[in-house]
Amino acid sequence: MTTRHPELSRKPVIAANWKMYKNPKQAKEFITAFLPLVHGHNRDEIVLCPPFVDLAVAVEATHGSNVHIGGQNMHWQEEGAFTGEISAAMLAAVGCTYVILGHSERRQFFGETDESVNRKLQAALHAKLTPIFCVGELLAEREANKTEEVLVRQTARGLANIAPESARRIVVAYEPVWAIGTGRTATPEMAAEAHLVIRSQVASSLGREIAEGMRILYGGSVKPENATSLLNQPEIDGALVGGASLDPQSFAKIVQYTSR
Ligand code: PEP
Repeated sequence: MTTRHPELSRKPVIAANWKMYKNPKQAKEFITAFLPLVHGHNRDEIVLCPPFVDLAVAVEATHGSNVHIGGQNMHWQEEGAFTGEISAAMLAAVGCTYVILGHSERRQFFGETDESVNRKLQAALHAKLTPIFCVGELLAEREANKTEEVLVRQTARGLANIAPESARRIVVAYEPVWAIGTGRTATPEMAAEAHLVIRSQVASSLGREIAEGMRILYGGSVKPENATSLLNQPEIDGALVGGASLDPQSFAKIVQYTSR
């Protein structure tokens, strides 16, 4: 496999967000079909984020493979009277190494704020998880020319009070909300432009060196047909994939996007 960004040490991440799809049996069936399709693929880090009830099965089924498992959310406290929640330490204990934080569906439907995302980021780093920190503008914000303002605000607030050393592990996902699950995709140029805004804010928050090394993924209707053009943008360091990650063949095709 060729290295996509020989000049940078940003190993791309291709992550699947299964949202509220697949039970443990279906997760196991997916993994059984998927692993042979990506066997030996080390150019990119491959991550599956299934629902909580599938995590133990998914960790066991991917043991010893090149596929990592992550949660889709967590609470910032280690433990406590928080009915329905699970902690970073619990995700780590079950064998997760990643966690998605601040997904727009959590912001939109479950009251997630920049402040709660910031607390969760700190807790995830403390538990040695790799957070996939999601930011992105609504359609109305893009149409009102507020994309840059929104991305700067979400990135700055999400990264507040995070020690630069521990921040190296953070992966950012730029997910324009209007492109999630809609079939509408940002053009590679639009995505690259947004990534530059985010990287520049990461530099202001955490310093230029950390910003240069930070993986920034694109998410929003990524499919086998558009993966190559998006992922060939030097500013795009991987993808967070919803709908097209539910089928093993389709997700494997995205993982195998063609590099320049
Ligand atoms: C997502 O859920 O993070 C996502 C990008 O979904 P989709 O690929 O379906 O747009």
